[in-house]
Amino acid sequence: MSKQVIVIGAGIAGLASALRLKRLGLDVLVFEGAGFPGGKLREFSSKGYRFDYGPSLFTMPTLVDELFSLFDENPQDSFRYIRKEYICNYFWSDGTRFAVPASEEEFIETASTTFNEDEKRLKKYLERNALKYQLTAPLFLEKSLHKLSTYFGKDTFKAITRIFKYDLATSLNQVNEKFFKNDKLVQLFNRYATYNGSSPYRTPGIMSMIPHLEMNLGAYLPEGGMHDITNSLYELALRQGVKFRFNEKVSRINYSGEVVTGVSTDEGEYEADLVVSNMDIYSTYQHLLPDFPAPKHIMKQERSSSALIFYWGIKRQFPELELHNIFFSDNYQEEFKAIFEEGTVYKDPTVYVNITSKNVPADAPAGCENWFVMVNVPANTGQDWTELTREVKKNVIKKVSSILKVEIEPLIETEDTLDPIRIESDTSSHQGSLYGTSSNSRMAAFLRHPNFSGKLKNLYFVGGSVHPGGGIPLCLNSAKITSEIIKDDIR
Ligand code: FAD
Repeated sequence: MSKQVIVIGAGIAGLASALRLKRLGLDVLVFEGAGFPGGKLREFSSKGYRFDYGPSLFTMPTLVDELFSLFDENPQDSFRYIRKEYICNYFWSDGTRFAVPASEEEFIETASTTFNEDEKRLKKYLERNALKYQLTAPLFLEKSLHKLSTYFGKDTFKAITRIFKYDLATSLNQVNEKFFKNDKLVQLFNRYATYNGSSPYRTPGIMSMIPHLEMNLGAYLPEGGMHDITNSLYELALRQGVKFRFNEKVSRINYSGEVVTGVSTDEGEYEADLVVSNMDIYSTYQHLLPDFPAPKHIMKQERSSSALIFYWGIKRQFPELELHNIFFSDNYQEEFKAIFEEGTVYKDPTVYVNITSKNVPADAPAGCENWFVMVNVPANTGQDWTELTREVKKNVIKKVSSILKVEIEPLIETEDTLDPIRIESDTSSHQGSLYGTSSNSRMAAFLRHPNFSGKLKNLYFVGGSVHPGGGIPLCLNSAKITSEIIKDDIR
C-alpha cells in the first residue's frame, strides 16, 4: 500500500509539493482552510474588474512548466504565458521617466543615455549579477542547506571558492553606489531588495542577483493573469488524483514520541505517514504544535515587510502606464528606515501600480483599467492600520496624481483594500509578512528553517517562510527540495 501524505495548505508551495509527492507514488491529501486553492495567489472580482490578490511579478515560469512535464503533460496545453517586452515603467517626481526594455542591449543603451552612465559599466554590472546567480543558485536556492550531502557536490566547491565575488560583507546599496554615480539608477537597482521584503540598506550585496532573474531571464504574465498559475496547477493535481479538503483548517499536528502520526481538524483526526506543512513556519509551531518546543531563533527572526494594497477600478486608460509601474519616493533611505526601524510608513512612499488589463483586456470594462496599487509597509506589530491606510491612501493619490498630472481620486469607481492584519487572517502569514523572514542580514539564507523537522520524524515544511525563501520561484524550489528529501527518507 502506498504511503499517505497530508499537506497542510494549498498555497503555491502546497500545490507543487502535492504534485511532486504524487509523482513519487504517494497518496496525497491536502487540507486547506480557505474554500479555494492558491493562498496568496488568489483572485477576486468587483464590478466587472478582476484583481490578483497578491503576487503580480512572474519570473522563471519553467519552474511551473516542470510540474506538468513530471506527468508527461505538455505545459502549453493548459498553462500559457507571455514574455514582457518592457519590464517596468519607472517615474520620479522631477519628471524623469524610464521604461526598462527586456532586451539587455537596449537596456544598456537607454539606461546609459537616461542616467548618463557608462555602457561598459552597466554591462559589467549585469554580467556580475548573472555570475552571482549562476554560482549560488545551485547551492543556496536549489538544494537543502541542512543536509550534509549538499556540501560534497562540485557546485558547492565552486560556489565556496568564489565566495569573495558575492558581496556578502556590503549592502546592496553599497554595491550599487560603488557601480553607479546616478542616484536614480542606484534607486532602481536598490528596489530589488523589496522582491524578498528586505531593505537595500541592510540586505547583502549578493541580492544584486535578483535583477538577473527579471532582466536576463525575463518577466512574464500568464495569459489570464497570475491566478492562472493556481488554476492550472490545481487542475493538474485533480487530474493526477490528489485529494483536497477545502474549508477544513488543520488545528493540530499529532505525534507519538518523536514521530508524526497525522493531523486533527474540527471534523476529525486523520492518520498519515508523512505531514508537509505549507502553513507559515511561525504559525505552524505556534498553532499546530503548541506543546512542542519551537526553535527560539525562528520565533524571534525579523519578518519581511508587508504591504498595503488598494485595488482600484479606474474608469480611464493611461497609455503611459504598463503592466508594472513604479512611482519612486524622493527619499528611499527614509522610506526603509520608516519600515524597518520605526515600524511605520514613510510620508512619501514608493508606489507600485500593477495593471493586468494592459495585457488581459477582460480584466477591466472597456476603456477602464484594474489598478493594483501597493506600498511596502512593516509587518504588523500592533500599528493602527485603519489610520495608516487612510494616510497612505491620501499620500498615494497625491503622488500619482501629481506625476501623471491627472486627478486620480474621481476616477476610482471600485475600491478594496488589503493590510497586514488581513494578510495574516487570510493566509496565516505571521504578522502579515509577504515573504516569511527578512533577508536583512548576511546570514539570512542560513537562518531560515530547514525543509524538515530535526526533532519530529516525518514532518516537513515548504513555502515562503522556510528555505530557500519567499516569492513564487523560491516556493516552487522549496517543494522540489522537500520532495527530494522525502524521496531519500522513504527509500
Ligand atoms: P501561502 O500562499 O500563504 O499559502 C498558505 C496556504 O495555507 C493558504 O492557502 C492558507 O489558507 C493555508 N493554511 C494556513 N494555515 C492552514 C491550516 N492550519 N490548515 C489548512 N490550511 C492552512 N511573490 C512573487 O513571486 N512575485 C510577486 O510579485 C509577489 N508579490 C506579492 C504581493 C503580495 C501582496 C503578497 C501577499 C505576496 C507577494 N509575493 C510575491 C509573495 C508570494 O505570494 C508568496 O511568497 C507565495 O505565494 C507564498 O506561497 P506559500 O505556498 O508559501 O503560502
